[in-house]
Amino acid sequence: MKAGTVYFSPDYFTAAERFSTTALKSGARLQILPLHAKGPTGQELGIEIAWLGAQTPRRVLLHSSGLHGVEGFAGSAIQLQLLDDVPALPADTALVIVHILNPYGMAWLRRVNENNVDLNRNFPHNASYAGAPSMYARLDRFLNPQSPPTSDFYFAKAGYLILRYGLAALKQSVASGQYEFPAGLFFGGTQMEEGPRQYEAFVKQRLALAEKAIVIDVHTGLGKFAEDSLLVDAEEYIRIRDVFGERVTALRPDEVAYRIQGGLGSMISRVLPKAHPVFIGQEFGTYSPVNILHALREENRWHRYGGGTLDHPTKEKLKETFCPASESWRQAVLRRGRELVEQALRELMHA
Ligand SMILES: [Zn+2]
Repeated sequence: MKAGTVYFSPDYFTAAERFSTTALKSGARLQILPLHAKGPTGQELGIEIAWLGAQTPRRVLLHSSGLHGVEGFAGSAIQLQLLDDVPALPADTALVIVHILNPYGMAWLRRVNENNVDLNRNFPHNASYAGAPSMYARLDRFLNPQSPPTSDFYFAKAGYLILRYGLAALKQSVASGQYEFPAGLFFGGTQMEEGPRQYEAFVKQRLALAEKAIVIDVHTGLGKFAEDSLLVDAEEYIRIRDVFGERVTALRPDEVAYRIQGGLGSMISRVLPKAHPVFIGQEFGTYSPVNILHALREENRWHRYGGGTLDHPTKEKLKETFCPASESWRQAVLRRGRELVEQALRELMHA
């Protein structure tokens, strides 16, 4: 295994090239789900999937990254490291590594896709794609100013709002997902987007016969710098905590997390009912919620009202916000990323 943080790539296209090369070298079968969205210089984009082990698995570990575009640098690094030193798999087991579910977002340094959709809010249970928390509507002008980035007392306003409503309540109403403000932050879309649609079809077609599935979906942002939380559904909390220990956090409003609508986990459970999937969002903490929201807000303003090109400070800022350059942060990501995969494989073996 290579030392240090060489697995982190400087941009999406480098990461994608390394992923396919390393996957083929590791003996994986490589499949790409093509997408219509294009990169900044017109490049083709697709979701790369490396498949190791059984073709029709009874047990499967599904490891995905980059559902939130710019958050994908960490997950991509974990996956490259994994492909460089593939763990042993029993005959009836597959390890399926899904590289960057939102390649547009990573290529353009956005958290959302080409339609401003937050893909982890794009799988609502009832497929209604309607509604917004009432407080979101009241905060729309603060969250989504209709002008290019400027300094406009954001931090003072944010401080006031936190005093008035409390951080947990604000996070819940701002970030849980909304379907009413298509140009705003945390917009869940009006229908299932192309990437999620393709991915759902892939999971259904290839994994329907699995009897046991563990899913690890890597994110960054929430939580303490360089520490990871394992975010799970509140109903699954006890069961998963028994196995994966104290890092497990239920998705409900508290210091770290908030409930979301239409997350990827809900799609996986719906499509693979037979496998009773254990769905874990592995979330690596970076900066404070107020700073993260600021970076998202300014990048969205640049995208919508400033031109949206990559050569702007809001882009570099967003990347640093979701993938800190800090060597110790990156080492922690690689170490904990690997540990969780090994833990999940051990758990699968008992199934
Ligand atoms: Zn995320």
